[in-house]
Amino acid sequence: MSMARKVYIREASYDYRRLKPVVFEMMDACGAHIPRGGLVLLKPNFLSPAPPEKAMLTHPLVVRAVSEYVLEKGGRPQISDSPAVGAFEKILKEGGFREALSGLDVRFSEFRESVPVAAPSMPYGIRPPFPKLELAKDAFDAELIINLPKLKTHAQMLLTLGIKNLFGCVVGLRKPEWHFRAGVDRQMFASLLVQVWAALRPAVTLLDGVLALEGDGPGKGGVPRRLGLLFASSSAPALDIAVCRTLGIEPGRVPTNEAAGKMGFHAEEIEIDGAKQKYPVENFGLPGQAMDVIFGPKRFHGAMRAHLLQRPVVNEDLCKLCGECLSYCPAGAIEKKDAEGKKESRLAFDYEKCIRCYCCLEVCPQGAIRAREPMAGKLVGKTIKAVHDLLD
Ligand code: SF4
Ligand code: SF4
Repeated sequence: MSMARKVYIREASYDYRRLKPVVFEMMDACGAHIPRGGLVLLKPNFLSPAPPEKAMLTHPLVVRAVSEYVLEKGGRPQISDSPAVGAFEKILKEGGFREALSGLDVRFSEFRESVPVAAPSMPYGIRPPFPKLELAKDAFDAELIINLPKLKTHAQMLLTLGIKNLFGCVVGLRKPEWHFRAGVDRQMFASLLVQVWAALRPAVTLLDGVLALEGDGPGKGGVPRRLGLLFASSSAPALDIAVCRTLGIEPGRVPTNEAAGKMGFHAEEIEIDGAKQKYPVENFGLPGQAMDVIFGPKRFHGAMRAHLLQRPVVNEDLCKLCGECLSYCPAGAIEKKDAEGKKESRLAFDYEKCIRCYCCLEVCPQGAIRAREPMAGKLVGKTIKAVHDLLD
């Protein structure tokens, strides 16, 4: 299926007098028809409570500008997400959303209820990977969805962009369940994310890359980086590819791009509308990437997963043993254990159980968990690369 391929890129800052006209122009360019009197769902990235300067959430002024656009066109904006951790209200306050959107006729509402959603029809008769999903009811009650992701790195998916942002429409505790179903296979999880996007089909995706997050994102382990860019498109797959090109990253390295292509949503020939003189962005810091393949006889997979794959590790100096990661881990792979010879406890990971979803990185309020590749994995990776180089 040939997707709409135009992606608009604009330079922007969080100076609201300048930001608002840029956002309005981009929304117009994407051609979203805002239904008069209709409910319009705005889906920002509300990962966990954090102030705007941490670059973990879509900036509140970007959300304000899009809300004003919807109101001006006669729509009824509702801002919703299902945060990975932390009370929705705390995110609204700490993230500056209550303050930035004060005075606007906007509804904030956490996703609470799910509805079963049949698999969407795929191009070329491709079979969707999951026969049924359960997604936020509010997303289906709305007449239009506007997707508002943040440009961030992600330990499991390399980057979290337009397609990945919609995973927030999987309600609360269902998220870990779906992570678990997709398992350790990043491609399977990427296919799930593409299927979620295909079921929701936001009319516009507008990505906040003014202050992006590089390094060990998407949580507090990441490092804010000012790029000064907004991206918008009616096609999230096209937008995700345009962001990769802007960052100088081969799009196929992001599993959701690869999965979208395999599932028939090709967006190779995208047209970029915007100043290109600043691109590609130099030295955008990426997280270490997990090895893709577990090979060999099945009985060795658990041990290989434990010793070769990139894995979560805790910085005990930062960890406050709050237990947030334990209660969220979908695989039950984290526990508190008494440290040998010491009175206090510490965290222990069971790497054979761990499915490498990196929810623990996302939910840790201290930024105490990082993804690290074990030495054995590094050696195997280097050996494979050396063999490839010899054969080339
Ligand atoms: S790693 Fe983070 S989330 Fe887990 S117990 Fe420590 S502080 Fe809490
Ligand atoms: S330990 Fe962390 S990465 Fe592993 S399954 Fe649990 S939440 Fe996911």
